[in-house]
Amino acid sequence: MTMITLPYEDRHCGDLILVNRRYPLHQRALEKEEALDSQLTAADPAWPEILLARPAAIALQKAMADLGAEGGIVPVSGYRSRAQQEKIYRDSLEENGPEFTKKYVALPDRSEHQTGLAIDLGEGGVELDFIRPSFPDSGICGLFKKEAARYGFVLRYPQGQEPVTGIAHEPWHFRYVGCPHAAIMEAKGMVLEEYLEFLEGCSDGCFVWDDEDGSAQIRYIRGRENGIQIDVPEDCPYQVSGDNREGFIITVWRRR
Ligand SMILES: [Zn+2]
Repeated sequence: MTMITLPYEDRHCGDLILVNRRYPLHQRALEKEEALDSQLTAADPAWPEILLARPAAIALQKAMADLGAEGGIVPVSGYRSRAQQEKIYRDSLEENGPEFTKKYVALPDRSEHQTGLAIDLGEGGVELDFIRPSFPDSGICGLFKKEAARYGFVLRYPQGQEPVTGIAHEPWHFRYVGCPHAAIMEAKGMVLEEYLEFLEGCSDGCFVWDDEDGSAQIRYIRGRENGIQIDVPEDCPYQVSGDNREGFIITVWRRR
């Protein structure tokens, strides 16, 4: 075991951060935007101007290749800077009015798109609506939706979860949370808000998830103002992510 220190501010960074009306993107994550810039990469090589954080882009490209979805599914919107999100919000207010905008467009710093971990996808070959692209449950789009969790993506705003997410059903908006978190969320029918609450509830021990590759031990730890020290293994991979609330999620993988 090795001991590492998690600075309190780092709870605002990582693949599992919750960004919504209640938990806006934090200054710490924005400060990292510059660092993020250098690791942003094309969501799809055919659309070089649509960017994602590198792990999310790699996972998406793998999913598209495995599922034979190139051309059948097209990226519509990925990473947005704060300025871009402000413009989209302003333009939508002007064009679509406040009711529509409140339902489908997040306020600046409340948009997951600013994290580089969210992607709007549309059905290829049809005229695309930038804010509400068509992404049907059938065909290649349906297949992607069914398989997304295997690649670390979740449908972030499902039907019926509006009271929890605060966002209307968006069949086109996928969020990268990584593996095995996406598979657990799907198996438990939880959106990110619920999943983080669930992990926090397991904080006296850890949650163990088994799949064909091995097992993942997931721990939730509350941050402390003067930093917190945790033990991490030296012999297997681990990942630490903040939740953008009060804590950290530590995932340790053990292969079979
Ligand atoms: Zn979106």
